[in-house]
Amino acid sequence: MFTSLSTLQPRQLELTSVYTTIVNPKIASNLIKALNCLDDLPLPHLKRIRRSRTNQGDVLEAILFPTSVDRKTVLDFLCKINDSEWIIKTVQVSKLAPVLRSEFEQWKGYWPMSFYERSDLIDELDPADQDYANKWCQKLQDLMPKSCTNMAIIVHPETQEIMALGYDNRHHHPLKHAVMNAIEQVAVKEVQDRDLKVVKKKRALDEPNYGYLCTGLEIFIYQEPCVMCSMALVHSRIKRLFFLKKNISNGGITSKYNLSMHKNLNHHFKSYVKDD
Ligand SMILES: [Zn+2]
Repeated sequence: MFTSLSTLQPRQLELTSVYTTIVNPKIASNLIKALNCLDDLPLPHLKRIRRSRTNQGDVLEAILFPTSVDRKTVLDFLCKINDSEWIIKTVQVSKLAPVLRSEFEQWKGYWPMSFYERSDLIDELDPADQDYANKWCQKLQDLMPKSCTNMAIIVHPETQEIMALGYDNRHHHPLKHAVMNAIEQVAVKEVQDRDLKVVKKKRALDEPNYGYLCTGLEIFIYQEPCVMCSMALVHSRIKRLFFLKKNISNGGITSKYNLSMHKNLNHHFKSYVKDD
């Protein structure tokens, strides 16, 4: 049974200032249309209009521009919609679009925002995936020499092809960890394919990171990758990681770094550990 370790950490709320104005409901749609025609809609994750409670009752308040925009530009924009007296206010809103539901629940209090739950962040393995992971981890143990302390297999999940077998060779060179050796093999194959002008199976063309060494590929490792190897997996855009033993002292996933889902890194991948 494999357990997920891929819990994305919620980010700190980052606030930014925007200009807003109270808008007459009769011209609210004109204002939204004009804002939507802007080449660069500011803070697109925010709803353009919210209902605000005042002493005079509920009013509509529209978000206009970041406060970095000149105030006169804002007024000129409003006067083109209607030449009434516009009153501009400054309001603090979330600068970032929420990725996690907990972020959304916390940040929407500043200004209403859109939120789309990403199915790729829901990471429980279904029974078929558990069988798939068990099969490859068994294969890994069958192939791993007794003298070897760690080994990695990189697999193409759709074709079930072994793309690389990496053995730990750090007694020859300090950087020759199992993961580094496996990624290097993928790179060597890539170069050979290019030299031979092999028309490659269109691996994961639909994935956003197509073009990186391990886009769409999955890795099975005996020992949890260290920090260096975890970063190599981030850089090469691995799809998923499975390992059998935790590396408590120097692991890149179960340690405080949690590099597979680190909030400041630009690639995230799901990782799973086999229960003892
Ligand atoms: Zn390593």
